[in-house]
Amino acid sequence: MSNSYDYIIVGAGSAGCVLANRLTESGQHTVLLLESGGRDTNRWIHIPIGFGKVMFDREVNWMFETEPEPRMNGRNIKVPRGRVLGGSSSINGLLYVRGQREDFDDWRDLGNPGWGYEDCLPYFKKSEDQARGADDWHGIGGPLSVSDVKDRHPLADSFIEAGEAAGIRRNHDFNGESQEGVGYFQGTARNGLRCSAAVAYLRPAMRRSNLEVITHAHASRVLTTGLRAHGVEFVVDGAKRQAFATREVIVAAGAIQSPQLLQLSGIGPADLLQRHGIDIVHALAGVGQNFHDHLQSRVIWECTQPITVNDDLMSPWRKMMLGAKFALNRSGPLSWYAGLAGGFSRTRPELTRPDVQFHFFPYSTDRTDPSLHKYSGFTMSVCNLRPESRGTVEIKSADPSAAPAIQPNFLERESDVATMLDGVKLIRKLAATPALSRWIKCERDPGPGCASDDEIIDFVRNKGFTVYHPVGTCRMGSDQAAVVDQKLRVHGMQNLRVIDASVMPAVTSGNTNAPVIMIAEKAADSILRGE
Ligand SMILES: Cc1cc2nc3c(=O)[nH]c(=O)nc-3n(C[C@H](O)[C@H](O)[C@H](O)COP(=O)(O)OP(=O)(O)OC[C@H]3O[C@@H](n4cnc5c(N)ncnc54)[C@H](O)[C@@H]3O)c2cc1C
Repeated sequence: MSNSYDYIIVGAGSAGCVLANRLTESGQHTVLLLESGGRDTNRWIHIPIGFGKVMFDREVNWMFETEPEPRMNGRNIKVPRGRVLGGSSSINGLLYVRGQREDFDDWRDLGNPGWGYEDCLPYFKKSEDQARGADDWHGIGGPLSVSDVKDRHPLADSFIEAGEAAGIRRNHDFNGESQEGVGYFQGTARNGLRCSAAVAYLRPAMRRSNLEVITHAHASRVLTTGLRAHGVEFVVDGAKRQAFATREVIVAAGAIQSPQLLQLSGIGPADLLQRHGIDIVHALAGVGQNFHDHLQSRVIWECTQPITVNDDLMSPWRKMMLGAKFALNRSGPLSWYAGLAGGFSRTRPELTRPDVQFHFFPYSTDRTDPSLHKYSGFTMSVCNLRPESRGTVEIKSADPSAAPAIQPNFLERESDVATMLDGVKLIRKLAATPALSRWIKCERDPGPGCASDDEIIDFVRNKGFTVYHPVGTCRMGSDQAAVVDQKLRVHGMQNLRVIDASVMPAVTSGNTNAPVIMIAEKAADSILRGE
């Protein structure tokens, strides 16, 4: 191929893979896909439980960190992001959760016509190959396989019973009529292996002659003439190259790096660009603002019986059996998602919809490395689904290889502190029900010494971390601070779109991979219809 294409996509993550597939499907358009990372050959990418390993592997993970977080006791919190074909969908926890109907209706009501739930649902269905079959909410035959794990675990069953005892109903489908309830999660897996966006969308498209994919290609700048984008400068093997787009440049580098790339290209807050000596192409104050993410706290208990995955890994024989189960039947802990069971609930009865999500894990870890505790441990976590605190992503220098400053401002709003406090109390309430308490020897972390509200809040500040859903830094909207319009075109620019998690006006109430894939499906459709 020459160095001129119809479309250039930066970033082969969840959104980039969908776009590369859909834009080349008709054979009428040529597409160049640039990805900073390499191919997805690491075997731990494809084994579901491998997310616990790739979380710490720089070969496939950017492993960013936040700036010191003032309300999290000054900690630099780890921000893993995929750096490989498939992007974060190649290292994520596989959980398939779309969010609540109201999330999308809120997007629409914030000034984004065409993004209400009824507008988005067809694209969720289009993307999906639901193992349980099609119904009003689910599709079959789409590229993204969604399935159940084969196993049940006595602790996860007890967690669900505990939820019911505490008044939270059982829910078989968090993506169906209503999200509220407790149950087993579904995940993006096919035949027990991860179905990343690369597996689902990119691999089939890579056979097409109108798609060129360049890995280890780091985009350093969007090339512009006046206010029109016409190409991308990128670095491969230390050499600078350029490619040109006759139709559009599409930035799909994720919520951290899409704003970074725009800022490096002279599109962003004027004072920030001036501070770093970058020529202003278009002053757009909202680029890198509105950063927000789900904050999570985990409580760990020691189990009365040696039935946790920690116990499996402490015994060479049981460890071998785990491998055999997975190899022979694609079952057992190696096939599990990041959270076997979980749920969505309201921390206060007057709320009209869930404001927290639980994850239940029949194992425990400190999360400083892939190892599990050397005792029978299990974990319940809680995260605030709709945080109000807002932060920023800003370049620290004009060097495209330098990480940007990520400042989430977790717990800046008192409402977020209150939700986390109530959320931790709620999971402890579940632990105190007979269904779960019969399995509990003691609470290991934070432990019974952490009892007052102040002590619980301090625990959240000391140990809380992101559950990996940063969004919002190139927000869709029609106001002054918005970055893209409802067709995801960058305001004030021509031939330039941003399509990824960064365009979400507000984070969805759940995990973010499914909504990002929906966004890219919808945007591809809009591009192909010539909008
Ligand atoms: C550890 C972890 C666990 C998660 N667990 C879940 C889960 O269980 N369920 C769920 O729904 N969601 C989960 N998520 C979130 C979900 O995976 C993301 O929201 C989603 O993948 C984001 O998609 P994206 O397209 O916006 O960005 P990404 O998928 O992150 O893609 C961005 C891509 O752009 C590339 N890139 C960046 N800059 C450049 C550049 N300058 N030049 C070239 N390429 C570049 C990156 O290398 C990357 O491949 C998790 C995320 C992580 C990191």
